[in-house]
Amino acid sequence: MNTRTDSRKIALVGTGMVGMSFAYSLLNQSVCDELVLIDLDRKRAEGEAMDLNHGLAFAPGNMKIYAGSYEDCKDADIVTICAGVAQKPGETRLALLKRNADVFRSIIDPVTASGFRGIFLIATNPVDIMARITCRLSGFPKERVIGSGTALDTARLRYLLGQYLRVDPRNIHAYVMGEHGDSEFVPWSQALLATKPVLQICEESGGSLNLKILENISNDVKNAAYEIIETKKATYYGIGMALTRIARAVLGGENSVLTVSACLDGDYGQQEVFVGVPCILNQNGVSRILRLNLTEDEFQKFDRSCETLRRSFDELAL
Ligand code: NAD
Repeated sequence: MNTRTDSRKIALVGTGMVGMSFAYSLLNQSVCDELVLIDLDRKRAEGEAMDLNHGLAFAPGNMKIYAGSYEDCKDADIVTICAGVAQKPGETRLALLKRNADVFRSIIDPVTASGFRGIFLIATNPVDIMARITCRLSGFPKERVIGSGTALDTARLRYLLGQYLRVDPRNIHAYVMGEHGDSEFVPWSQALLATKPVLQICEESGGSLNLKILENISNDVKNAAYEIIETKKATYYGIGMALTRIARAVLGGENSVLTVSACLDGDYGQQEVFVGVPCILNQNGVSRILRLNLTEDEFQKFDRSCETLRRSFDELAL
């Protein structure tokens, strides 16, 4: 971690839609004191820095914002990677993954060469695999590599369940776990409205809330990204705010619980796989992984999700 107490610095690699939604949200919430924007397209990063700087007069706090290079990562607290290439028509998932692994090699080598000693925060998809690749390529301790994981999916779940129950999403305590993708799942046995179990609400609701409705909600969460992409080609505001929340937890040493992609080391009976789990985050990155009391069925879903991720990573043969 950066040892200065007066300045919180974030380096952002990839100033596309996701990266800039993150940057805009950082500025609006005044989460850091210095923000450096890095992109293969240097001109774009420069334009984005100018545009953000013009909002400073309306921001809640001051921030030094500029387009920079990998050397600027040296004293950053967090390097966030949102850079990636999009799927070409007809391209296989594995071919895309290989191209994104190459993109990451071209980023992580110069970032580590700069002397960077902070926390990597990864958003590029498939995020669980890209976080594991980051850990492998950087040689960083696993605690200092965080993937955004199911942080966004969890926010979608809290929103949808809150809508259904007519409750503020902030009073819904429920998580999406597993891969950020098709094998993710909601462990409903762990879901609470304030301190009341959602499954108990089902039992007492006389049918107005039931398992079928919960299943529909978890499917809506899973399909949310596809639905948004169909209408506007990409998703970015939600992930931008999720990344901001994670960065705030790290920079503030908050010990906040967020479902991020972390490397399991015996947790949930799994080894060496990055996957979305509830974690306690602070200035050291993933300080602890929470081990929830999943049901047998939920455990199986989690195992399946880990297996999917392990297979994808092995296919890469890094
Ligand atoms: P985008 O195409 O708008 O931006 C990508 C940026 O990466 C571009 O500015 C490009 O110039 C840059 N880039 C490409 N190769 C680079 C390299 N080698 N070095 C430096 N910069 C490079 O894409 P986007 O919509 O911002 O999405 C970015 C990533 O975020 C995608 O992988 C997307 O799937 C992912 N995403 C993740 C989540 C999540 O929940 N984790 C949600 C939404 C999107």
